[in-house]
Amino acid sequence: MAVAHDEPTATLTGPRLHLGCQACGAMLVLEPALRTTRCPYCAAPAVVERPPEPGVPEPAFALGFSLTHAAAKQSVSRWLRSRSRFCRSGIRSAEPGDVHGIYVPAFLYSALVKSSFRATIGENYQEQESYTTTENGKTVRRTRTVTRTEWRPLQGELEGYVADVLVTASNGLRNEELEALEPFDFRALARYTPALVSGWVAEEPTLTREACLEGARSEVGELVLKRLEGLMPGDSHRDLSHDTRLDWESLDVCLLPVWVLPVRYAEGEAPLRVLVNGQTGEVHGEAPISTWKVLIAVLVGLLLVLGVVLYVRGGVG
Ligand SMILES: [Zn+2]
Repeated sequence: MAVAHDEPTATLTGPRLHLGCQACGAMLVLEPALRTTRCPYCAAPAVVERPPEPGVPEPAFALGFSLTHAAAKQSVSRWLRSRSRFCRSGIRSAEPGDVHGIYVPAFLYSALVKSSFRATIGENYQEQESYTTTENGKTVRRTRTVTRTEWRPLQGELEGYVADVLVTASNGLRNEELEALEPFDFRALARYTPALVSGWVAEEPTLTREACLEGARSEVGELVLKRLEGLMPGDSHRDLSHDTRLDWESLDVCLLPVWVLPVRYAEGEAPLRVLVNGQTGEVHGEAPISTWKVLIAVLVGLLLVLGVVLYVRGGVG
């Protein structure tokens, strides 16, 4: 039997399906076999097919998953058990739901940093000081040791390379959430190929390059300040300021492995979203606190204090 030569052959990277979540705005790209009706990020059943977005930057790098989905589920179970007693009822005993592995897009930033800084450095020294006081109705002179600070100006230069600064490019994952999952081990960074994410749900970058560049630069500013704080000599310092120039900036889209698990802890409540770093197993989630539990604890505390006060009064009287 003859087989037509132009018959499509199955490849690892066939046509991809583009889906958008109308609840959280995530733009997902996946193989038709992975078609989903619920958003893997927010569990909303508002996922619709959408045309491919033009001009979306291709990922340059990707980090693979090294944590299995069973291990991710275990990490989340342990995390749930270790939540505060003030969490909403049902959270500590909840079971994590379906695990979804998502390749989350982020911008990976690096640059050469040159900073000129100035600060005022304080050096402490001790001195004897005499003073007058009244003892037994008489005025007497005494001496005591006091600590004083001498201030001197300091200025200098700091030069170095910053790499691996991550800023989320995803609508589904906020930058604070990404920061909570960091660090990722960039020694495992690989050049992106479509085959690398085959069989997985990936999200397309939705935040613009410009917005992410701003975010990355401000993160570098914070990093520089932290590094300078650590370098300051003396016993204390004040007025630390820096003028920082960034050269050789690079900004590439990188796909990061993240496990997302919805945790249902009560009927009629939106599930709690728990994230797991697909490389290190670091867990992040915001378990809601029960106002009632906190209120009751405060009331019990107040009653205890009142009880003690009444007891002391009774004892004295
Ligand atoms: Zn969603």
